[in-house]
Amino acid sequence: MKIAIIGAGLAGLSCALTLEKHGHTADIFEQRKEVGFGYTIAELMTPILHAPIDDAVQYFSEKHDIHLKPTYNVQKIYVHSENESAYVEGNIGFINMRGRHEEAYEKQLAEQLVHSKIHTDSHVTYDDIAKEYTHVVLATGDPQDTQQIQPYEIALKSCFAGAIVQGDFVRNEVHTWFNNHFAPKGMGYLLPHSKTEATLVIVYPQYEQEWVEDRSEFWETFVSQASRTLNQEITIKEEFTITDYMVGRCKYPRIGNTFFAGNCFGGITPFLGFGQTGSILSGIYAAQDICGLGDYETLCKPLYKDYDDSLVLRRAIESLSNHQLDLVTKSLHNSMVKKVVTQPNMSVLKGLSHLLKPFVSTK
Ligand SMILES: Cc1cc2nc3c(=O)[nH]c(=O)nc-3n(C[C@H](O)[C@H](O)[C@H](O)COP(=O)(O)OP(=O)(O)OC[C@H]3O[C@@H](n4cnc5c(N)ncnc54)[C@H](O)[C@@H]3O)c2cc1C
Repeated sequence: MKIAIIGAGLAGLSCALTLEKHGHTADIFEQRKEVGFGYTIAELMTPILHAPIDDAVQYFSEKHDIHLKPTYNVQKIYVHSENESAYVEGNIGFINMRGRHEEAYEKQLAEQLVHSKIHTDSHVTYDDIAKEYTHVVLATGDPQDTQQIQPYEIALKSCFAGAIVQGDFVRNEVHTWFNNHFAPKGMGYLLPHSKTEATLVIVYPQYEQEWVEDRSEFWETFVSQASRTLNQEITIKEEFTITDYMVGRCKYPRIGNTFFAGNCFGGITPFLGFGQTGSILSGIYAAQDICGLGDYETLCKPLYKDYDDSLVLRRAIESLSNHQLDLVTKSLHNSMVKKVVTQPNMSVLKGLSHLLKPFVSTK
């Protein structure tokens, strides 16, 4: 077998690591000069909608011998709507670094490789690679590459504005904002990476052209709002924007000996846009199939299910006005609701998704 992996991100590297553990090596092609995307950000890794996984870091370590060291575990998550604030406490997940940061998850994965070679500074195309290799894993993080080969159903295209910011933060506490004035049908969030530094982001679907055009205005309004909520001046260190970020799923996880992994598969659960757990899982599953340990399509079925459940919740939350978002936030003060939301692996969200399904259009 001659195996190529296109993309040294979470899916590609998890795939390579799993192949190695079963005696195979892959050639990994990465277009950047080093592993990790071009800017530093914090991301949240949560098992939300990935039942039965309660703790993804422990799960990957114990079940798949893939070891990730997150930056912090999250104990408290604040939800802010236009006029209400509430929080829930519990083991909500982990904050980890991505991109250029020395502890970025992709760097941690790359360091665990023993035999596979990462060819950096190598932008390759599927057509070139497919001629030379018996197996190809497409893990470029970009569903447009999947669309060149097969149908990819798009749930939404997202627009991000974000920055590394400086201030005074509590490390285990995450803040989220749901307010259609500055993140229409989307959200804002703050993920601390230390007591003095955090990632601050708004992300929302690009349903209206003017929402993209108004991004700077939304961003400025959000930064002022975040400063007010946190009762401090927030200083911007390094800004970034992303447009046309596709969330969706491919029709076929595998075509012949080509495997679609990570975002190229549909690793992101559309509800709040978490893609790390699904991307790593799809990389592992692709490798298991190549090693003859399972069937990729079958292994991916729970991921498709997670995606579908999550899309129902996404469409439900998108339909809420600011007033309704206030009511949802207020309901989090209720101790019963709090308890239910912080259940292990938040399986309640799956239940909620099934209840809502008949009433919500996922188109
Ligand atoms: C701003 C932002 C915030 C996010 N926050 C969260 C979060 O908090 N929690 C969460 O769970 N998920 C989050 N996500 C989603 C998560 O980052 C992705 O789902 C995950 O990284 C996808 O992994 P991947 O392996 O598919 O792609 P990536 O990790 O992006 O890796 C793809 C790699 O392929 C390389 N590549 C691309 N094309 C080529 C080519 N032709 N040849 C060679 N190499 C190529 C790229 O350079 C890159 O290194 C966020 C995404 C963004 C953009």
